[in-house]
Amino acid sequence: MTTSTTTDPTRTAPPGPLLELTNVSKLFPVREGILRRVRAHVHAVSDVSLTLARGETLGLVGESGSGKSTLGRLALRLLEPTSGRIDYLGQDITNLKRGSLRSVRRNAQMVFQDPYSSFDPLSPLASSVAEPLAVHGEGGGSARRARLEELTRLVGLGPQHLDRYPSELSGGQLQRMAVARALAIEPSFIVLDEPVSSLDVSTQAQVINLLEKLQHELGVAYLLIAHNPALVRHASDRIAVMYLGEIVEVGSAEAVYTTPKHPYTHALLSAVTVPDPDLQRTRRRIVLQGDVPNPADPPAGCRFHTRCPYVMDVCRSEVPPNFVAADGTSVRCHLHTSGPVLDGAPVADLLATSGAATSYEGSPS
Ligand code: SF4
Repeated sequence: MTTSTTTDPTRTAPPGPLLELTNVSKLFPVREGILRRVRAHVHAVSDVSLTLARGETLGLVGESGSGKSTLGRLALRLLEPTSGRIDYLGQDITNLKRGSLRSVRRNAQMVFQDPYSSFDPLSPLASSVAEPLAVHGEGGGSARRARLEELTRLVGLGPQHLDRYPSELSGGQLQRMAVARALAIEPSFIVLDEPVSSLDVSTQAQVINLLEKLQHELGVAYLLIAHNPALVRHASDRIAVMYLGEIVEVGSAEAVYTTPKHPYTHALLSAVTVPDPDLQRTRRRIVLQGDVPNPADPPAGCRFHTRCPYVMDVCRSEVPPNFVAADGTSVRCHLHTSGPVLDGAPVADLLATSGAATSYEGSPS
């Protein structure tokens, strides 16, 4: 465990979620011409409501461009939401200004995808890892060095690595250093934005195992952003699925992974290879037709309706309500309330009876 003298506000905080996003949206203006007039807005995140509990890992999956990273930055208030509310430990931080945000940011850190671009290539790693301590005025001299050495041991490296330059470490070692830096001021919450996607498979496992071990020891909560659903299932307590800026399904990792209730989740997970060869032979990969729509002009009604094999008339005009299934999963899809009512059952139940134009890759046995 760490020896830092800093205190964790979650230990004295009232009960309730660590982080709560309520109807959060983020629009980015698209400008053109010499006068840079606003021509349209990219709907990067739309009406997202999510909670993150203390010590929990919430996995966030979806295709590239679905808004996952923007949502991670909003959660840290690195971006201003266009609308909605963000609460941290019961405090509304939506409109906090820079000075007041400082104490929030002290408890919330981020680990990025590419460890090589996360560090200054011209500085020894000690100075980069010490940045959060310097920013928040913690320690100094030999105390700071002792803290850095403690952090490097925590992530499975040695003090000698602190005096090296980023180019002298492997990708896996450098990502461990990025985790050490994120932990330097004992945050209660870390956004992990594709933390292992640039690493080879064996190193990915090492870093994920390290993150789980640290969570067990330190109680830190993670928002784990990844496009690999298998990785997210392994590492997450709950999974949220994003499509074109919206959360379309959120529930326990087990429920979302084994009985997906939204057609998009079903298609996304059908691409994952399972380790059991007998089970794998029974699986069919769903290949979605069409392209992801332009986020500057998202479709009316359900945003997935242009690619959904089960689309109904209602889907083209009405935004699906949030439906909570018996297993606690929240899903936004008319199938659970209209048409061939699933009423919380998995989408797979429709496959046998639907004449939908779903295409499959490989032959089901
Ligand atoms: Fe498909 Fe309609 Fe459900 Fe959207 S609401 S996912 S279009 S069935």
